[in-house]
Order: sequence, then structure tokens, then C-alpha cells
Amino acid sequence: MKGQRLSIYRAAAKVAGRIGAALLPQDCLLCGALAGAQLLCSACSDSLPRLPHSLCPVCALPSPANGTCGACLSHTPFYDATLAGFRYDFPIDRLVQALKYDHRLAIAPWFATVLLPSPPLEGDLLLALPLSNMRLSERGFNQALEIARPLARALGLPLATTACTRMQDGPPQASLPWAERQKNVRGVFECGQDLAGKSVIVIDDVMTTGATLNEFARTLKKHGARRVTNWVVARTLTSQDWPP
Ligand SMILES: [Zn+2]
Ligand SMILES: [Zn+2]
Repeated sequence: MKGQRLSIYRAAAKVAGRIGAALLPQDCLLCGALAGAQLLCSACSDSLPRLPHSLCPVCALPSPANGTCGACLSHTPFYDATLAGFRYDFPIDRLVQALKYDHRLAIAPWFATVLLPSPPLEGDLLLALPLSNMRLSERGFNQALEIARPLARALGLPLATTACTRMQDGPPQASLPWAERQKNVRGVFECGQDLAGKSVIVIDDVMTTGATLNEFARTLKKHGARRVTNWVVARTLTSQDWPP
């Protein structure tokens, strides 16, 4: 009986895949077990890497008593706050890579669902961290924008899709020592919208050193933004940060 039910579900999942439906029973993206209408089975969902409870409100790295960390106090970033859904670790890293490199676009709205806070985040508008035209044409989509769309809908906030652009990329940030990443992104963003007095929420998939998000926040502030909040799926912790 169980086997029969499984095969019915599997057949339904195949059909769902073909017609692009998202809510029929499907296999867990990570382990292949039956996941019902979800992308992940409950065992995989429960094993996702959480961040520690006590985080710096500015950069989302571990910090005692949720206080602003020493790094943010000594070099105040241009962004004002960061919220992160998960620690960037297995298997969240696999999901981010599957979205970006295997074009598993269904992962983007799933990320949005798991990011949605209660009470909802406040701000005037959402922006996705822009990709350069070169990267955009290679990939075909901006994963940050795909995550931002359902978030904007859920929050009832405007999503500015063309307000800001990113010039040609330098060397990939991942290939550079952490100290050089800020220099590498200096001046890469441009913004054609007046953001005077606005509280802007910036969506991205992964925050590693924060150098790129900081440069984007610098650009937004230069165009008048009053407040910049980063809202990312996952935050990279270094071995110094984790275990805290
Ligand atoms: Zn699973
Ligand atoms: Zn901090």
C-alpha cells in the first residue's frame, strides 16, 4: 500500500515537473525522499544550518547579547542592519548553487518563504543586489531578484528592478583575499533613482565579507537613502565566528 502510494506520488511529481506546477507532491531536492508539496523533506528542513541566536544587528555575525560587534563599531559599514536566514553551510550552500548554476528557479520563492519574518520587515522599497550585464547574460537571471520578487509581493512593498546597475565585474570576489574585496568592488554600482529619505531593503543570496553589500549601500546612501537593511538568505561565518 505504502509502495503504491509512493509510486502514485512519484508519478504525480513527474507530471507536476512537466507542467511546472509547484504544489503537487515532489521529491526532496536534497535527499530524494518524498517531500509532499515542499521542496525539502522535513528531515532536511530540520537540519538546515542555523545562525547563533546572538548576532550583531549590523553585520549578522555572532556577537554577545545581540550587541553591535567590535568590527562594526570600529569601521561602521554603510549599511545599517543585516538579517540573514541561515548560516552559509551544507546544505544551504548546495541549494544556493543549484539555484545559481543549475537554474533551479523554484528554490528562489522557497528562500523567500523561509526568509519572511514576523512581524514583517519595515522599509520603503526593495532592491536586489544587481548583477553585471555580463554575468546576467551568462546566467540568464539574477538570483537575488528572483528571491526579491516574492518577498516584495508578500510585504506589499515596491521592488525597484531597474533603479541600480552594476558595471563590468573585476575578478570574482571569491578569488581574492578578504582584505582586497572592498577595493575590487569600489565604484561598481550606479543608481539612476533618487532615494532621498528612503529606507531601502537589499536582497541577496549570500553575504560573505559584506564588501559588495557595503559598496552597494555606499552607492544607495550617496543617492539619498536614509537607511539600508541587508536581507540575505545565508551569512558566511569564518572559523573565528563559528563555532562562536
Ligand atoms: Zn530530504
Ligand atoms: Zn557587526
